[in-house]
Amino acid sequence: MSGTGPNLSLDATLLRGARFHCRPDCGLCCFTSPRLDPVDRAPLLRESPYSPLSRDAEGGLAVPSRPHGGACIHLSALRCRIHRVRPGVCRQFPITVHLGPRAQASLVLSCPGLDVQEFLMHDPAPDEPEPPGLVQELDTARARLRLRFTHSDEDPRVGWEARRTAAVRAGWWEEPEVVRRSLRPNLERLAQAPGEPHALPSSRDGFEFLPLTFDGRAGPIAFASSGATWSLLELSAEGDRVKRIGTIVPRILPMTEGAGQLLARYLAYWLERDDLWGMLAESISEDPVPISMNRAAERELRSISADVRLRASALRASRKLPEGPLGADEIAAGIRAADLDLLDRDGWGERL
Ligand code: SF4
Ligand code: SF4
Repeated sequence: MSGTGPNLSLDATLLRGARFHCRPDCGLCCFTSPRLDPVDRAPLLRESPYSPLSRDAEGGLAVPSRPHGGACIHLSALRCRIHRVRPGVCRQFPITVHLGPRAQASLVLSCPGLDVQEFLMHDPAPDEPEPPGLVQELDTARARLRLRFTHSDEDPRVGWEARRTAAVRAGWWEEPEVVRRSLRPNLERLAQAPGEPHALPSSRDGFEFLPLTFDGRAGPIAFASSGATWSLLELSAEGDRVKRIGTIVPRILPMTEGAGQLLARYLAYWLERDDLWGMLAESISEDPVPISMNRAAERELRSISADVRLRASALRASRKLPEGPLGADEIAAGIRAADLDLLDRDGWGERL
Protein backbone atom coordinates (compact mmCIF):
# COMPACT_ATOMS: atom_id res chain seq x y z
CA MET A 1 0.00 0.00 0.00
CA SER A 2 1.37 3.43 -0.86
CA GLY A 3 1.78 6.07 1.84
CA THR A 4 1.93 9.85 1.75
CA GLY A 5 5.63 9.82 0.82
CA PRO A 6 8.63 11.19 2.71
CA ASN A 7 8.76 14.86 3.60
CA LEU A 8 11.62 15.91 1.31
CA SER A 9 12.10 19.62 0.75
CA LEU A 10 14.55 20.90 -1.84
CA ASP A 11 17.72 22.49 -0.48
CA ALA A 12 18.55 25.24 -3.01
CA THR A 13 21.40 26.87 -1.05
CA LEU A 14 23.92 26.07 -3.81
CA LEU A 15 21.94 28.15 -6.32
CA ARG A 16 22.29 31.44 -4.45
CA GLY A 17 23.86 34.22 -6.47
CA ALA A 18 23.34 32.55 -9.87
CA ARG A 19 22.19 34.43 -12.96
CA PHE A 20 20.91 32.46 -15.93
CA HIS A 21 19.85 33.28 -19.49
CA CYS A 22 19.42 30.35 -21.88
CA ARG A 23 21.47 30.89 -25.07
CA PRO A 24 19.30 30.38 -28.12
CA ASP A 25 22.32 29.33 -30.22
CA CYS A 26 23.43 26.56 -27.84
CA GLY A 27 21.34 23.36 -27.50
CA LEU A 28 24.08 21.65 -25.44
CA CYS A 29 21.58 20.18 -22.94
CA CYS A 30 19.65 18.60 -25.84
CA PHE A 31 22.51 16.26 -26.86
CA THR A 32 20.87 13.61 -24.75
CA SER A 33 17.91 11.28 -24.55
CA PRO A 34 15.75 13.02 -21.93
CA ARG A 35 13.87 10.85 -19.47
CA LEU A 36 10.07 11.18 -19.32
CA ASP A 37 8.34 11.41 -15.96
CA PRO A 38 4.95 9.64 -16.01
CA VAL A 39 3.18 13.04 -16.14
CA ASP A 40 5.20 14.13 -19.21
CA ARG A 41 3.90 11.43 -21.50
CA ALA A 42 0.28 12.49 -22.20
CA PRO A 43 1.05 16.18 -23.04
CA LEU A 44 3.90 15.10 -25.31
CA LEU A 45 1.77 12.57 -27.19
CA ARG A 46 -1.10 15.08 -27.53
CA GLU A 47 1.26 17.62 -29.12
CA SER A 48 3.28 15.12 -31.12
CA PRO A 49 1.15 11.92 -31.44
CA TYR A 50 3.70 9.93 -33.42
CA SER A 51 6.63 10.91 -31.24
CA PRO A 52 8.74 7.74 -30.81
CA LEU A 53 9.75 6.78 -27.28
CA SER A 54 12.66 4.69 -26.06
CA ARG A 55 13.78 3.08 -22.81
CA ASP A 56 16.65 4.45 -20.76
CA ALA A 57 19.23 2.33 -18.91
CA GLU A 58 16.89 1.97 -15.89
CA GLY A 59 13.98 0.88 -18.08
CA GLY A 60 12.12 4.22 -17.86
CA LEU A 61 10.58 5.98 -20.86
CA ALA A 62 12.73 8.54 -22.68
CA VAL A 63 12.77 10.65 -25.84
CA PRO A 64 15.25 9.03 -28.24
CA SER A 65 18.33 10.81 -29.49
CA ARG A 66 19.83 10.53 -32.96
CA PRO A 67 22.76 8.14 -33.52
CA HIS A 68 26.48 9.07 -33.70
CA GLY A 69 26.34 11.63 -30.88
CA GLY A 70 23.33 13.45 -32.36
CA ALA A 71 20.84 15.43 -30.27
CA CYS A 72 17.34 14.57 -29.05
CA ILE A 73 15.02 13.97 -32.03
CA HIS A 74 13.01 17.11 -31.18
CA LEU A 75 15.93 19.51 -31.58
CA SER A 76 15.69 21.31 -34.89
CA ALA A 77 18.07 24.14 -35.86
CA LEU A 78 19.06 24.23 -32.17
CA ARG A 79 15.43 24.89 -31.13
CA CYS A 80 13.11 22.51 -29.29
CA ARG A 81 10.13 21.65 -31.52
CA ILE A 82 8.03 20.60 -28.51
CA HIS A 83 9.11 23.40 -26.19
CA ARG A 84 5.65 23.87 -24.60
CA VAL A 85 5.43 20.18 -23.58
CA ARG A 86 9.11 19.32 -23.17
CA PRO A 87 9.87 16.83 -20.35
CA GLY A 88 10.31 18.08 -16.79
CA VAL A 89 13.99 17.14 -16.81
CA CYS A 90 14.48 19.62 -19.72
CA ARG A 91 12.40 22.34 -18.03
CA GLN A 92 14.52 22.00 -14.91
CA PHE A 93 17.93 22.32 -16.61
CA PRO A 94 20.54 23.67 -15.59
CA ILE A 95 19.40 22.66 -12.11
CA THR A 96 20.33 19.14 -11.07
CA VAL A 97 19.00 17.47 -7.92
CA HIS A 98 20.90 14.86 -5.97
CA LEU A 99 18.85 12.57 -3.74
CA GLY A 100 20.90 11.35 -0.82
CA PRO A 101 20.98 12.54 2.78
CA ARG A 102 18.66 15.34 1.52
CA ALA A 103 17.34 16.55 -1.84
CA GLN A 104 20.05 19.01 -2.81
CA ALA A 105 19.90 21.23 -5.89
CA SER A 106 23.07 22.44 -7.58
CA LEU A 107 23.86 23.96 -10.95
CA VAL A 108 25.29 22.16 -13.97
CA LEU A 109 28.13 24.58 -14.63
CA SER A 110 28.59 23.24 -18.18
CA CYS A 111 25.56 25.32 -19.21
CA PRO A 112 26.85 28.42 -21.03
CA GLY A 113 23.72 30.30 -19.93
CA LEU A 114 25.44 30.63 -16.54
CA ASP A 115 28.37 32.97 -16.03
CA VAL A 116 30.73 30.54 -14.27
CA GLN A 117 33.25 33.19 -13.21
CA GLU A 118 30.71 35.61 -11.82
CA PHE A 119 28.84 32.83 -10.02
CA LEU A 120 31.84 31.10 -8.44
CA MET A 121 33.60 34.30 -7.37
CA HIS A 122 30.43 35.71 -5.76
CA ASP A 123 30.00 35.35 -1.98
CA PRO A 124 26.23 35.11 -1.49
CA ALA A 125 24.76 36.59 1.66
CA PRO A 126 23.03 34.00 3.89
CA ASP A 127 19.68 35.69 3.22
CA GLU A 128 20.22 36.11 -0.53
CA PRO A 129 16.92 35.31 -2.32
CA GLU A 130 16.54 32.47 -4.77
CA PRO A 131 17.98 33.42 -8.15
CA PRO A 132 15.38 35.39 -10.17
CA GLY A 133 16.59 33.92 -13.51
CA LEU A 134 15.88 30.36 -12.37
CA VAL A 135 12.34 30.62 -11.00
CA GLN A 136 10.71 28.30 -13.55
CA GLU A 137 13.54 25.80 -13.34
CA LEU A 138 13.30 25.72 -9.53
CA ASP A 139 9.50 25.42 -9.62
CA THR A 140 9.88 22.48 -12.00
CA ALA A 141 12.48 20.80 -9.79
CA ARG A 142 10.22 21.19 -6.73
CA ALA A 143 7.18 19.90 -8.61
CA ARG A 144 9.14 16.87 -9.89
CA LEU A 145 10.36 16.13 -6.38
CA ARG A 146 6.80 16.27 -4.99
CA LEU A 147 5.42 14.07 -7.75
CA ARG A 148 8.19 11.53 -7.41
CA PHE A 149 7.35 10.78 -3.78
CA THR A 150 3.66 11.64 -3.43
CA HIS A 151 2.40 8.12 -4.04
CA SER A 152 5.44 6.21 -2.89
CA ASP A 153 6.91 5.06 0.41
CA GLU A 154 10.38 5.15 -1.16
CA ASP A 155 12.74 7.44 0.78
CA PRO A 156 16.28 7.96 -0.61
CA ARG A 157 17.58 8.84 2.87
CA VAL A 158 16.94 5.27 4.10
CA GLY A 159 19.34 3.69 1.57
CA TRP A 160 21.92 6.42 2.16
CA GLU A 161 21.78 5.93 5.94
CA ALA A 162 22.16 2.14 5.62
CA ARG A 163 25.29 2.54 3.52
CA ARG A 164 26.71 5.17 5.84
CA THR A 165 26.14 2.86 8.84
CA ALA A 166 28.00 0.04 7.03
CA ALA A 167 30.90 2.41 6.23
CA VAL A 168 31.04 3.57 9.88
CA ARG A 169 31.25 -0.09 10.94
CA ALA A 170 34.00 -0.71 8.38
CA GLY A 171 35.91 2.13 10.02
CA TRP A 172 36.49 4.55 7.13
CA TRP A 173 33.53 6.90 7.33
CA GLU A 174 34.08 10.52 8.38
CA GLU A 175 31.19 12.98 8.45
CA PRO A 176 31.12 15.33 5.44
CA GLU A 177 31.01 18.45 7.61
CA VAL A 178 34.20 17.37 9.45
CA VAL A 179 36.02 16.78 6.14
CA ARG A 180 34.67 20.03 4.68
CA ARG A 181 35.97 22.01 7.65
CA SER A 182 39.44 20.50 7.32
CA LEU A 183 39.69 20.99 3.53
CA ARG A 184 38.16 24.46 3.08
CA PRO A 185 41.40 26.31 4.01
CA ASN A 186 43.45 24.15 1.58
CA LEU A 187 41.57 24.58 -1.67
CA GLU A 188 43.95 27.04 -3.35
CA ARG A 189 46.79 24.58 -2.71
CA LEU A 190 44.72 21.65 -4.03
CA ALA A 191 43.80 23.62 -7.16
CA GLN A 192 47.52 23.92 -7.99
CA ALA A 193 48.55 20.42 -6.87
CA PRO A 194 49.22 17.56 -9.29
CA GLY A 195 46.39 15.04 -9.56
CA GLU A 196 45.40 11.96 -11.52
CA PRO A 197 42.81 12.99 -14.13
CA HIS A 198 39.75 10.77 -14.61
CA ALA A 199 39.93 8.48 -17.64
CA LEU A 200 38.54 10.01 -20.82
CA PRO A 201 36.36 7.69 -22.95
CA SER A 202 37.26 6.85 -26.52
CA SER A 203 34.87 7.47 -29.42
CA ARG A 204 34.82 3.68 -29.85
CA ASP A 205 32.98 3.51 -26.49
CA GLY A 206 30.11 5.48 -28.12
CA PHE A 207 29.75 9.19 -28.81
CA GLU A 208 27.06 9.48 -26.14
CA PHE A 209 29.70 8.88 -23.43
CA LEU A 210 32.06 11.67 -24.53
CA PRO A 211 32.23 14.85 -22.47
CA LEU A 212 30.77 17.81 -24.34
CA THR A 213 31.23 21.52 -24.18
CA PHE A 214 29.79 24.54 -26.01
CA ASP A 215 32.24 27.02 -27.48
CA GLY A 216 30.08 28.97 -29.93
CA ARG A 217 30.21 26.48 -32.81
CA ALA A 218 27.11 25.00 -34.45
CA GLY A 219 27.64 21.74 -32.55
CA PRO A 220 29.23 20.97 -29.19
CA ILE A 221 32.86 19.92 -28.88
CA ALA A 222 33.45 16.37 -27.68
CA PHE A 223 36.71 15.17 -26.12
CA ALA A 224 37.76 11.61 -27.01
CA SER A 225 40.88 9.74 -26.00
CA SER A 226 42.85 7.75 -28.58
CA GLY A 227 45.71 6.28 -26.56
CA ALA A 228 48.33 8.96 -25.91
CA THR A 229 46.42 11.65 -27.81
CA TRP A 230 43.05 13.35 -27.55
CA SER A 231 40.72 14.09 -30.43
CA LEU A 232 38.50 17.14 -30.30
CA LEU A 233 35.38 16.54 -32.37
CA GLU A 234 32.51 18.79 -33.34
CA LEU A 235 29.23 16.84 -33.20
CA SER A 236 26.12 17.69 -35.18
CA ALA A 237 22.54 17.72 -33.89
CA GLU A 238 21.47 15.41 -36.73
CA GLY A 239 24.23 12.92 -35.85
CA ASP A 240 25.15 12.68 -39.54
CA ARG A 241 28.59 14.18 -39.43
CA VAL A 242 31.38 14.38 -36.86
CA LYS A 243 34.04 16.96 -37.66
CA ARG A 244 37.58 16.50 -36.34
CA ILE A 245 38.78 19.83 -34.94
CA GLY A 246 42.22 18.62 -33.95
CA THR A 247 44.35 15.96 -32.35
CA ILE A 248 46.52 16.98 -29.42
CA VAL A 249 48.85 15.46 -26.87
CA PRO A 250 47.18 16.30 -23.54
CA ARG A 251 49.41 18.38 -21.28
CA ILE A 252 48.54 20.63 -18.34
CA LEU A 253 49.63 24.26 -18.70
CA PRO A 254 50.32 26.45 -15.64
CA MET A 255 47.71 29.00 -14.48
CA THR A 256 47.66 32.69 -13.60
CA GLU A 257 46.91 33.58 -9.97
CA GLY A 258 43.35 34.63 -10.87
CA ALA A 259 42.79 31.35 -12.70
CA GLY A 260 44.01 29.40 -9.64
CA GLN A 261 41.58 31.32 -7.41
CA LEU A 262 38.68 30.52 -9.75
CA LEU A 263 39.60 26.84 -9.78
CA ALA A 264 39.79 26.85 -5.96
CA ARG A 265 36.24 28.28 -5.91
CA TYR A 266 35.11 25.46 -8.18
CA LEU A 267 36.63 22.91 -5.79
CA ALA A 268 34.78 24.72 -2.98
CA TYR A 269 31.52 24.23 -4.92
CA TRP A 270 32.28 20.52 -5.26
CA LEU A 271 33.04 20.23 -1.57
CA GLU A 272 29.51 21.44 -0.78
CA ARG A 273 27.78 19.09 -3.26
CA ASP A 274 26.36 15.95 -1.61
CA ASP A 275 27.11 14.18 -4.91
CA LEU A 276 30.81 14.21 -3.97
CA TRP A 277 30.31 12.12 -0.81
CA GLY A 278 28.53 9.32 -2.61
CA MET A 279 31.28 9.25 -5.25
CA LEU A 280 34.01 9.17 -2.60
CA ALA A 281 32.29 6.39 -0.72
CA GLU A 282 31.96 4.41 -3.95
CA SER A 283 35.66 4.83 -4.78
CA ILE A 284 36.84 4.06 -1.22
CA SER A 285 34.83 0.85 -1.13
CA GLU A 286 36.72 -0.23 -4.27
CA ASP A 287 40.17 0.60 -2.82
CA PRO A 288 42.08 -2.56 -1.82
CA VAL A 289 42.92 -0.85 1.49
CA PRO A 290 40.23 1.73 2.28
CA ILE A 291 41.59 5.23 2.93
CA SER A 292 39.96 7.91 5.07
CA MET A 293 37.21 10.16 3.68
CA ASN A 294 39.54 13.13 4.17
CA ARG A 295 42.29 11.60 2.03
CA ALA A 296 39.79 10.41 -0.55
CA ALA A 297 38.29 13.91 -0.77
CA GLU A 298 41.74 15.43 -1.26
CA ARG A 299 42.54 12.87 -3.97
CA GLU A 300 39.22 13.51 -5.71
CA LEU A 301 39.54 17.32 -5.64
CA ARG A 302 43.05 17.07 -7.11
CA SER A 303 41.67 14.84 -9.87
CA ILE A 304 38.87 17.34 -10.58
CA SER A 305 41.46 20.12 -10.74
CA ALA A 306 43.57 18.06 -13.19
CA ASP A 307 40.48 17.40 -15.36
CA VAL A 308 39.66 21.10 -15.58
CA ARG A 309 43.25 22.19 -16.31
CA LEU A 310 43.71 19.43 -18.89
CA ARG A 311 40.53 20.31 -20.75
CA ALA A 312 41.30 24.04 -20.60
CA SER A 313 44.79 23.30 -21.97
CA ALA A 314 43.31 21.12 -24.73
CA LEU A 315 40.91 23.90 -25.77
CA ARG A 316 43.87 26.30 -25.92
CA ALA A 317 45.87 23.82 -28.04
CA SER A 318 42.90 23.27 -30.38
CA ARG A 319 42.90 27.00 -31.16
CA LYS A 320 46.65 26.83 -31.82
CA LEU A 321 47.24 29.74 -29.44
CA PRO A 322 50.76 30.30 -28.05
CA GLU A 323 51.70 28.58 -24.80
CA GLY A 324 51.67 30.53 -21.54
CA PRO A 325 49.68 30.40 -18.31
CA LEU A 326 45.96 29.68 -18.54
CA GLY A 327 43.81 32.70 -17.66
CA ALA A 328 40.61 32.71 -15.59
CA ASP A 329 38.42 32.72 -18.70
CA GLU A 330 40.20 29.59 -19.94
CA ILE A 331 39.78 27.85 -16.58
CA ALA A 332 36.07 28.80 -16.74
CA ALA A 333 35.95 27.05 -20.14
CA GLY A 334 37.71 24.02 -18.58
CA ILE A 335 35.09 23.95 -15.78
CA ARG A 336 32.30 24.06 -18.37
CA ALA A 337 34.01 21.23 -20.26
CA ALA A 338 34.23 19.05 -17.12
CA ASP A 339 31.23 19.69 -14.88
CA LEU A 340 28.48 17.72 -16.63
CA ASP A 341 30.85 14.81 -17.12
CA LEU A 342 31.82 14.81 -13.43
CA LEU A 343 28.19 15.00 -12.33
CA ASP A 344 27.35 11.98 -14.49
CA ARG A 345 29.45 9.60 -12.39
CA ASP A 346 27.93 6.90 -10.23
CA GLY A 347 27.75 7.35 -6.50
CA TRP A 348 25.40 6.89 -3.61
CA GLY A 349 22.07 8.54 -4.10
CA GLU A 350 20.59 9.30 -7.49
CA ARG A 351 19.74 12.30 -9.64
CA LEU A 352 16.10 13.39 -9.77
S1 SF4 B 1 22.90 24.25 -22.05
FE1 SF4 B 1 22.06 26.03 -20.99
S2 SF4 B 1 22.23 27.73 -22.42
FE2 SF4 B 1 22.49 25.83 -23.59
S3 SF4 B 1 20.41 25.39 -24.34
FE3 SF4 B 1 20.69 24.27 -22.42
S4 SF4 B 1 19.87 25.62 -20.82
FE4 SF4 B 1 20.20 26.87 -22.66
S1 SF4 C 1 12.68 17.66 -25.59
FE1 SF4 C 1 13.30 19.66 -26.36
S2 SF4 C 1 14.38 20.61 -24.63
FE2 SF4 C 1 14.29 18.41 -24.22
S3 SF4 C 1 16.19 17.55 -25.03
FE3 SF4 C 1 14.62 17.38 -26.66
S4 SF4 C 1 14.88 19.23 -27.88
FE4 SF4 C 1 15.90 19.58 -25.94
